[in-house]
Amino acid sequence: MNIKIIPQDQLEQQASSSVIRQIPLLLYPSPKTLYTHRVERLKSLANNSPISDYLNFCAKIVEQQADLLKQKPIDIDVACLLNSEHPPLSLDNLPLTNTWQDYLASLLDSCANTTEQITLVIEQLKKNSSQALQNKAIHLLTGEFDQVNGDETIFIWSALSVYYCQLASQIKGKAIAENIDKLWLCPVCKSMPSASVIQLGSHSGLRYLHCSLCESEWYVPRIKCTCCDNMKDIQYLSLEQELAATKTECCDTCHSYLKIFDQDKDPHIEVIADDIASLILDIKTEEEGFAKSGVNPFIFAQKQD
Ligand SMILES: [Zn+2]
Ligand SMILES: [Zn+2]
Repeated sequence: MNIKIIPQDQLEQQASSSVIRQIPLLLYPSPKTLYTHRVERLKSLANNSPISDYLNFCAKIVEQQADLLKQKPIDIDVACLLNSEHPPLSLDNLPLTNTWQDYLASLLDSCANTTEQITLVIEQLKKNSSQALQNKAIHLLTGEFDQVNGDETIFIWSALSVYYCQLASQIKGKAIAENIDKLWLCPVCKSMPSASVIQLGSHSGLRYLHCSLCESEWYVPRIKCTCCDNMKDIQYLSLEQELAATKTECCDTCHSYLKIFDQDKDPHIEVIADDIASLILDIKTEEEGFAKSGVNPFIFAQKQD
């Protein structure tokens, strides 16, 4: 399945592989810096946005996610999850325990008394039994987003993400990706990407997809549909000039799109924050007949009853 992840003890034998030496195919997250950057970016984007209240609300959740890392860190032996035919953190390889529900309870408490609507969502969520929450989490982790109310999903997903992001960070240094094949889902946890990022620094100019759940990033060549691998007639839409840092990459074959953020053009970009703040570009792209092939942890559709 997708990228084969090799444990550390086999790395030395693989060290001569040219692919490994040239391009890191997989970048594991550093949760602390990631959340700090996200909070800063959300607050800075909120200064000049028609959806500033929402961006500030998201910043509040991410602050709490950062706090949970310090207050309730998890440390499990991830080594036994590696070298499986399944992505290491996928449900096929690691059944979901209810550890994440502790994170959910903290998130709900910290967001109480925000607005009337959020208070209602929190009250509703608190009425769920542990088993009901577990069922909702499984729906989300298997991509059945229409089975859970979008407002509830934001909290559930944020709690799950703190859990999975920590586990993904613990694989760092223990395994690397060896080869790439079909790249539509995260090779670490099997979730959908949020968007693509063209990187700065040591990976300058390379395009990586950013996981919506565990926050790992995986390499995909540029000018290629990240949903069906088509490389013909890929078009880019943006709101401003041709050289905009935020665009949508649209595929004429499968009619899907995903945002692509270019840190070369704007080094402050943070994939999740910038994806929310550029919601208007989603609306324009959908008007052109394309459907998003990704998930933003803070934007979920309402459940159709
Ligand atoms: Zn992932
Ligand atoms: Zn496509």
